[in-house]
Amino acid sequence: MIKIPEQIYQRLIEYAENGAPEEVCGLIGGTKADGAKEAREIYFLENAAHSAARFSMNPAEQFAAIRDMREKGISPIACFHSHPKSEAKPSAEDLRLAYDEEICYLIISLKTKPVIKAFRITDKIASDEDITVL
Ligand SMILES: [Zn+2]
Repeated sequence: MIKIPEQIYQRLIEYAENGAPEEVCGLIGGTKADGAKEAREIYFLENAAHSAARFSMNPAEQFAAIRDMREKGISPIACFHSHPKSEAKPSAEDLRLAYDEEICYLIISLKTKPVIKAFRITDKIASDEDITVL
């Protein structure tokens, strides 16, 4: 389960809307306690692919974000990207490129009404994770 403050939830949707038609991406830093993750800080990273159908986080920005989290005493709990024209479900490419079983993959879909869904991806198989908006 991942807890997301309302303000962060809204900022993610606005960022995805402003970045469309390209996919946007980034990381979320936060805390983990009793199996629940809580989002604290968003890191908006360049989609180095500049594509409407896939994303690739700018590696230098990703590295800087992780370093900033360490300094703030939080850790990477989720990564996010948008699907400007498709459902909030991991694509085959998303499953193939998933790199961390511990973090939560957030997908912001703008296909109809903007919505964010969360997944865990293990061995290229996605399972739903609950989101609680605080
Ligand atoms: Zn995707």
